[in-house]
Amino acid sequence: MLRHLREAPSQATIKAATGLASCGNYLHFREYFTVGKVRLHSATFCKQHLVCPLCAIRRGAKALGAYLSRWQVIQTERPDLRPYLLTLTVRNGPDLAERQAHLSHSLKRLMHHRRDFNAGTRGAPWTELCRAEGAVYTLELTNKGKGWHPHCHMIILATSQPSQTDLSAEWHKITGDSMVVDCRPILGDPVEGFMEVFKYAVKFSDLTLADNWHAAQILKGKRLLNSFGSFRGVDIPDSLLDEPLDGLPYLDRFYRYLDDSYQPASIRD
Ligand SMILES: [Zn+2]
Repeated sequence: MLRHLREAPSQATIKAATGLASCGNYLHFREYFTVGKVRLHSATFCKQHLVCPLCAIRRGAKALGAYLSRWQVIQTERPDLRPYLLTLTVRNGPDLAERQAHLSHSLKRLMHHRRDFNAGTRGAPWTELCRAEGAVYTLELTNKGKGWHPHCHMIILATSQPSQTDLSAEWHKITGDSMVVDCRPILGDPVEGFMEVFKYAVKFSDLTLADNWHAAQILKGKRLLNSFGSFRGVDIPDSLLDEPLDGLPYLDRFYRYLDDSYQPASIRD
């Protein structure tokens, strides 16, 4: 990406490239040797999660941790709730901004349906999403050469599984172009299901560098993570570092990125 940006210098590309060039240049770990744990204590991060895989991974991990902790709390209070993974898509298209707006608008309408029914609004139809007592959802996009494909992954907490058939019919009514809906229970370790939602917004491996840069421009500043109900108000730490383990002895480990790999460095380097 760095090389790609440097080939077409503009204010935006130069700014992004400067950040990328220093991102991850050094990593400072603390090894808490008495408990055999290692934590990332400090590092340079560019925080451009739409073009930088390192920052995207760290950001995703932070969101994952925050929502898993909330889920643990909810679970003890409401053992009858189960997590479900819901995926909603719209049809592929050549214009990313238009497809992205279409998905966001369709999701808003679905949320309105839920809110209106729950509020007892006269004539408001039932939606399968009313089964959800809480949810967190993110927008993701891919482009595998057949047009832009924005979609939404959602974790729903419900006491009964929403009907995929009914949701699909509802979603088609809203979008007018897609009935592709997938709803399945998250069984076993919740981490795997949750990871589907908190992996990056931009699937780097599926995009050319030009597409990746274009997507970053379109998505910049847009809200890509939303929640409602029992998943509302979860605080995702701004820092991309690990939490230190307080009160334990540690050894500092420094690494510098040199010649395409990380190499141990001393503090005085
Ligand atoms: Zn970065």
